[in-house]
Amino acid sequence: MTFLPGGGSGFIGTALSKSLQKRGYEVLIVSRKPGLWRTTWSDINAKGLPDSTTAVVNLAGQNVLDPFRRWTEGFKQNVWASRVNTTRYLAQAIEMSKVKPKVFVTASGVGYYPPNTSEVFDEDGPGGDFDFLSRLCTEWESAADLSPSANVRTVKIRTGVVLGRQGGMVQQLFLPFFMGVGGPVGSGTQPMPWIHIQDIVGLFIHAIEKEDLTGVVNGVAPDVITNKDFASAFGKALWRPSFLPLPTFAVNLMFSEERGKIMTEGAKVVSKKAFESGYVFKYPDINSAAQEFSRLIYAD
Ligand code: NDP
Repeated sequence: MTFLPGGGSGFIGTALSKSLQKRGYEVLIVSRKPGLWRTTWSDINAKGLPDSTTAVVNLAGQNVLDPFRRWTEGFKQNVWASRVNTTRYLAQAIEMSKVKPKVFVTASGVGYYPPNTSEVFDEDGPGGDFDFLSRLCTEWESAADLSPSANVRTVKIRTGVVLGRQGGMVQQLFLPFFMGVGGPVGSGTQPMPWIHIQDIVGLFIHAIEKEDLTGVVNGVAPDVITNKDFASAFGKALWRPSFLPLPTFAVNLMFSEERGKIMTEGAKVVSKKAFESGYVFKYPDINSAAQEFSRLIYAD
């Protein structure tokens, strides 16, 4: 029973691999770099999947919000190809394999949905065609489409901001919030779809093991919040003030406007499919999640 995660060395992939190992899976990460318990993208392209593969997941992707990388055409191409091409490579490997895995689960993003502060979007909401990141989500998801003859269940998880101490946004913001100089981004009134790391891991496992779950699933917690709600919960959990805003012009200066929108705009997103398929969230609300990711000491 082998679990094969593309980009499995990252924030979500590491946590997911650990959880699946505890459930008895062997893990073989697809990476750009060879190593122990790893295979490379060129190996996957040349040799296909190991016969023991039961679940294939793609979590590969160049970090969009890398503050050290300018938002140039070249970098955007990298952001695009690192998601679409890797998903395509895994889809092709699945098509070509003699022994098929049971399931193919891929990540996508809530950047699919247009920014909107009034309407609430579930998986049937509009989007995927209005800017670079929304078009990327469409292309990323299409790259995971398999021919019906492959007969492999496919799930695409449109993920909100993943909140956990070991990576992503919380890791980047921990120091300013700990120093009491954290706060909302821009006006703070923009919706911020989010999910705790343990729940995104739980939802990927749910997608792998729930045999009748297919198609798009929003990877977001039930608590629909604004960016200001996030800042306030984070500050409260650390016993620190959290009212110093990061102005929109500073975000745009640092990241460029097109990319800065990830932080300064947002949509209200809910997960009808997670709810209907019986997934139970460990951290459904931002205050309980913030208590967990603000702990100073982690044992594992
Ligand atoms: P990370 O940045 O932690 O890890 C992603 C992995 O992708 C890396 O470990 C790396 O693996 C691989 N990678 C990086 N750059 C490239 C590249 N240019 N080409 C091929 N592979 C590359 O991401 P997360 O774990 O946080 O997220 C996983 C996926 O989920 C990403 O696609 C991300 O866009 C998406 N997502 C994440 C959210 C979040 O808040 N974390 C929110 C919404 C979506 P290696 O070095 O081994 O090759």
